[in-house]
Amino acid sequence: MIGYNDTIRHPSTIRRTVNEKMIGAIDVKAKKVYTAGAMAALLSLSACTQLPWQDNHEQVQHQKSSVGQRNEKDKGKSALPSSEKMVSGMNQDHIYVVADPASTQVLVNKHFKLPEDYVPKDLVYLHVPFIFSGKSEKKEMQAVAAKPLKEMFAAAKKDGIELAGVSAYRSHKTQIALFNYYAQRDGVKKALEYSARPGTSEHETGLAIDVSGITGKYAATQAFGKTPEAAWLGKHAQDFGFIVRYPKGKESVTGYEYEAWHLRYVGISAAKKITDSGETLEEYLHEVPVNK
Ligand SMILES: [Zn+2]
Repeated sequence: MIGYNDTIRHPSTIRRTVNEKMIGAIDVKAKKVYTAGAMAALLSLSACTQLPWQDNHEQVQHQKSSVGQRNEKDKGKSALPSSEKMVSGMNQDHIYVVADPASTQVLVNKHFKLPEDYVPKDLVYLHVPFIFSGKSEKKEMQAVAAKPLKEMFAAAKKDGIELAGVSAYRSHKTQIALFNYYAQRDGVKKALEYSARPGTSEHETGLAIDVSGITGKYAATQAFGKTPEAAWLGKHAQDFGFIVRYPKGKESVTGYEYEAWHLRYVGISAAKKITDSGETLEEYLHEVPVNK
């Protein structure tokens, strides 16, 4: 963290041509200081926290309604709680709003969030095996990523590797419900240690998916990293435009521990460059490391 604030005060010095397009000038909205726990940025934690109530829609609905009540007057805009309010009083940091959320190379991390009203335009249902049955937004991704994902699953199967989806898209409302649930249960500071702040979860982009073997054993756990499925993905995901978004040894850049299961679509060319160079998306876009 030391020195980070100094850097971020002069965003122009860290911009390069690519991320100028991606992130652009800081959104006016971002001038509202979005607070973030400094400790949270220092910790490398899971980016894929699942809903504690699994697919229990009744409870999700309950969480959603309580969120809605708090924002009755904002109805129509999209009922969003001000998560920044929840952390007022903590050490402050800046979270910038990305200018081009629909880009396949959008950078979403602990310092860059999606606009609060952002919903990916072309979410489609994924026709690949999942470790759970029934309909769910977790089985959706942006169309641009859905086709290559299906092709990747098919290619893996040819190699004797049967993959399954664990969780793909997560709406902003769901992420809010999830975060608020944890914040109310454990306090905001604690919640930030294992759950992404609304808007900063890559799952909200519709370009990320957690993947496991077909049995679901080791899904979204460190043990998955040692499976043949993880090895296959580490080698071949790039051919389909996906990267292992939080690689081993890059915790200080991504802000998250190694997650062999969390794949992010960035397009084939970028995926190959990132994987071949052993870089992260942050480094590829010449962005500041999360934990600096
Ligand atoms: Zn994930």
